[in-house]
Parts: sequence; structure tokens; C-alpha cells
Amino acid sequence: MTEVVTLGTGSPIPDPSRAGAATLVRVDGRQLLFDCGRAVVMRLAGVGSLPMLLDALLLTHLHSDHTTDLNDVITTRWIMAPVESPLPVVGPPGTGRFVERTLAMLADDVGYRRDHHADLTWDPSCAVTEVLDGLAWEADGIRVTAAPTDHRPVSPTIGYRIEAGEHVVAIAGDTVPCEGLDRICAGADVYVQTVLRDDLVRAVPNPRFHDILDYHSTCEDAGRTAAKAGVKTLVLTHPVPPPPPGTEAQWIEAAAAHFRGEIVLAHDLWSRTLT
Ligand SMILES: [Zn+2]
Ligand SMILES: [Zn+2]
Repeated sequence: MTEVVTLGTGSPIPDPSRAGAATLVRVDGRQLLFDCGRAVVMRLAGVGSLPMLLDALLLTHLHSDHTTDLNDVITTRWIMAPVESPLPVVGPPGTGRFVERTLAMLADDVGYRRDHHADLTWDPSCAVTEVLDGLAWEADGIRVTAAPTDHRPVSPTIGYRIEAGEHVVAIAGDTVPCEGLDRICAGADVYVQTVLRDDLVRAVPNPRFHDILDYHSTCEDAGRTAAKAGVKTLVLTHPVPPPPPGTEAQWIEAAAAHFRGEIVLAHDLWSRTLT
């Protein structure tokens, strides 16, 4: 059984109903977390998971809205684990440096807790694997591959393809359509794509906001990628700007102009089980 849960569907724009970017994929007993935005540990708890139960954290890129709660994932795993258990972290080149800095930031807290708990005799740690194109993680017949995506000037960025038995899930992260994205999506059962609405972004009279237009997929782009790749279900997430309640159908219609399969505008804790 393969389950996809959009734990957090928000973007950098604060929205009380959307936690930061994070998607959980569970395959039988294995748990893989993709990105770790705001409040990810709360959302993990919301589906009966915890950082210490994760087999790996896989990052699509190092933008803050996808990584800001790495510190919470690390600390909560460390303080709850009965034995030393380094967190496996997979990400694009630069991930190792980012993890080192995060651990350095935690030094004071680590000291307080180690001084206070006699049985806590180790520091938190991560086992980092940097990948740009190719095998990212593998176990129990579950295979995760990465391919480069295009979120320039943010670089490098990657998307992931999870293959488990006959099921395929693609987790894209922030990107415009590109060859690497097509590869991870090919024939996927579920394709999760971060999106924006260019018409709504353009309507905001703020030049800084308009800068984001050239490095994200629109709903139309996501629909075109889904159609080209022959996916079954397109999941729109991380909508920018956050859709007011009652306007969700507009986002789906924009993608549906280019894709005839199922389209979902994800909310936090939306899930799909593939059996
Ligand atoms: Zn980004
Ligand atoms: Zn983002």
C-alpha cells in the first residue's frame, strides 16, 4: 500500500489554514518526508507520525518555505529517540552545508538538554546524501530517484520519483516545466506540483511579488506536464496566492484546460491511498 499525504500546502505567504510545504509518502512501514516547511511536526502528528519514525527526509531545494522546520524535525527526533538515530537527509548539492548550519544553530539547546538528561549521551545528527540526478534512496523494493528541475535563479533544485511495486508518485517541488520534471512524472499515479496563478499574482501591485512569476509552474503548466507525462492524478499544492475559500474550482479549471485526468487542489492532510 502506498499513501500520499499533503501535510502542508502553504507557500511563503502566511495562511492560518496552510502549514508550510511538506508531503509524506508512506509505503507499508516506511515513511518518507518530502520538504519540511512551517509546522511540519504538528502535521506529522496529525497523521500519527513523528520525526523519529521517518526513514528519510528528502528536500527538493533549500528555499526557506520548504526547509524552515528542519530544526524542529531534528530536535524532536533526537529528544524522543531511545537510542542514537541520525536522520537520513537527501537533497540537492548544498544540503550538507545547510544541515551543518542548522545543527550549529541548535548547539545551545543541545547543551541544555544534554546537561539535564543523564541518559542522553549523544548529539543530534544527520546522514546526508546529496543528489542531482539518479538514485536518491532505496529500501524494501522502494526506489526513489531524483532529477534536476528548473527553479532558476534558485539552483540546484530537484524533483523525486517514488516507485513502489506498481505505484509511482512524483513530488515536483518548485519548478517550471522541464525535461527532468517530465522524467520523474512519466506515467505517475500521483503527481504533486507546487503552483501559482499568474493572473492573480500580476493583479497584486507589488513588483517584488511579480518576481516569482518566472520560476514557478502555473496551473496551466502543471496541467500540460500532467498530460504529457500521462499521469492519473494531478495534485496542485503550495498555491500562490492562497485561494480564498470558495475559489478552489478556479484553480482546477485552469489546469483542466490542458489535462483530462483527475485534478485535486490539495488542502493540509489531504491524502490518497494507492492499493
Ligand atoms: Zn522555491
Ligand atoms: Zn516554495
